[in-house]
Amino acid sequence: MKNALEYDEQNIFAKILRGDIPCGKIYEDEHALAFPDIRPQAPVHILVIPKGKYISAADFNARAPAEALTGFYRAVSEVARQAGVEQNGYRLICNTGPDSHQEVPHFHVHILAGGKLGRMLGPPL
Ligand code: AMP
Repeated sequence: MKNALEYDEQNIFAKILRGDIPCGKIYEDEHALAFPDIRPQAPVHILVIPKGKYISAADFNARAPAEALTGFYRAVSEVARQAGVEQNGYRLICNTGPDSHQEVPHFHVHILAGGKLGRMLGPPL
């Protein structure tokens, strides 16, 4: 990641939002865009990103207007509903910052579902 305070216009999700590269869009509204993760970690693995330029959850939660926050988090639930995973359940993951292994410096939420996910994704430190 670049300087955490500086949004990288060349990050892969910025390119997807600009339409520079395809993403296989599965949901879009004024606040959010959702598409399958290119390296799925579960039978259902969807990424939901806000349309604004926010580096991380911390950045989004601190700077986004209330309407963008509400719209985005409602979109996450709507994507899960439309994906048909609401009844059996799903896991939301939001990696934030270097210790979390956040790779793409545009805020995103992972929706993981489609089978028993286990209690944790990795071994404890
Ligand atoms: P994170 O580690 O939380 O930053 O997650 C970034 C995710 O973006 C990873 O799970 C990648 O597989 C995924 N990813 C990277 N490039 C693309 C892409 N072009 N389309 C879809 N998913 C991508």
